[in-house]
Formats: sequence, structure tokens, C-alpha cells
Amino acid sequence: MLPDRERNGRESRIFATPVSRGRVLRRRVIGVHTAWTTVGDGEFFCPGCGGDRNYQRRTGRRRFVLLGVPVLPRGAAGPIVECAACGDHFGTDVLDHPTTTRLSAMVRDAVHTVVLAILAAGGTSSRTTLDAAVGALRGAGFDDACEEQLVALVEALAADTGRATVPDCGPGLAIELHEALGPLAPHLAPAGREALLIQGARIALADGPYTPAEREVLATAGDALTIGADEVTRLMVAARTTHF
Ligand SMILES: [Zn+2]
Repeated sequence: MLPDRERNGRESRIFATPVSRGRVLRRRVIGVHTAWTTVGDGEFFCPGCGGDRNYQRRTGRRRFVLLGVPVLPRGAAGPIVECAACGDHFGTDVLDHPTTTRLSAMVRDAVHTVVLAILAAGGTSSRTTLDAAVGALRGAGFDDACEEQLVALVEALAADTGRATVPDCGPGLAIELHEALGPLAPHLAPAGREALLIQGARIALADGPYTPAEREVLATAGDALTIGADEVTRLMVAARTTHF
């Protein structure tokens, strides 16, 4: 029996290999046909052809076909995700992986959140800290990031979370960090996750040693990025001396 390719609704399962005239005849008259119905569409990262592509989400109904006529139901097929570019079929779990466009937006968002959290914890009075923060944001694609804008954002954040006078990594900041970093973490290689933490550490170090509040932000960010506590400590020490 040949494998069931289930592609494009064409006849898929064949009950003979093409070795004799009789079998060739049987190929034409008997088989399993899958009729696909599209139930949704969108954009996904296709692991088959390796890029952001359109997809159709489809469910199918299998039927035995005799002389080209469907005769017996053979149950449901799918749901599957079909790539519009290469036509390959995948399980719907392929949609759990973000598109490259979405992934880069998530990384930008993560950098922005880490930078703001560090500034919120360490204050915005130091020019070197603000310079480092602006540099990190511009490196992440926020071309029009500037110090005034950052100061305003941090003040708004402090007012919002009621931390205008006592900087620390309160629940508000911790939630922000987990929301921005948590969904991203499974899709980044360890080096990518570490780079995010190191960026935060470098901003924290720009005006001197880590403050307790900055340490707390970095520990929370490391936790959200699924970096172990020991590794977070090692990276924080390494950020003091090593250029990444
Ligand atoms: Zn594809």
C-alpha cells in the first residue's frame, strides 16, 4: 500500500502498486478519496519551505471510492494546515510557532520592556544610563528612541504602578516582564535569551554597580526567559567585564 499523501483532495490511498495491468485497473477504480474543506486561513511559518506563508486550515472527510464514486465513509481527516506556497500538510501545532515577522516584533517588544523595567528600577537621573537605554532601543529597531521619551515613559509607568517614590520590581513590572518575555522564551535559542538579559544588565551597570531593585528586575527577567537563577547570577557578573 502506498502512503496516504492526502494532498489537494486528490485520490490518495491506492490499493495496489503499478506492477500489472489488473492492478493498474484497480488503481483507477478503487481507493480512498479525501475531500477537504477549508475552515480558516492566515499566515504561519512554514517548516516545509522555510518562511512566512499563507496557510489554509482544513478538515477532511475520507470515503472509499469505487469507479470514481464515493461509496463508504471512512471517517474524518485532519484538521491540517496546508501551506499555500509548497502545498505541504502539517499538524495544527505548527501554528504555535510565530511567523518571523511576529517573532521579530516580539523581540523588539521584549527589549523595550526590559529597558523600561531597568530604568524604572534604577531611575532616569543618570545620563550614561539613558544613553545606554537609547542605544539598546535603537539597536532593536526603535529608530526614534530618545532620552526625553524614555523619561516620560518611565514616569508614566511609575505613576501607573504607584511606584513614584520607591523604585523596586513590584508586581506591575514583574507582570509586564512575564507578559513580554514568557511567550517569546520558547522560540529563542539560549544565546538569544541571554542577550536580552545582558542588555538589561549593561544598562543597569551604566551608572555603577547593580542596585537591589535592578538585581530584582534582572532576576525576574531571567525567570521569565527561563534562564536558571545560577545562570542569571553568572550573566550578571559577566556583564560587568565581558563585551558581548
Ligand atoms: Zn511551505
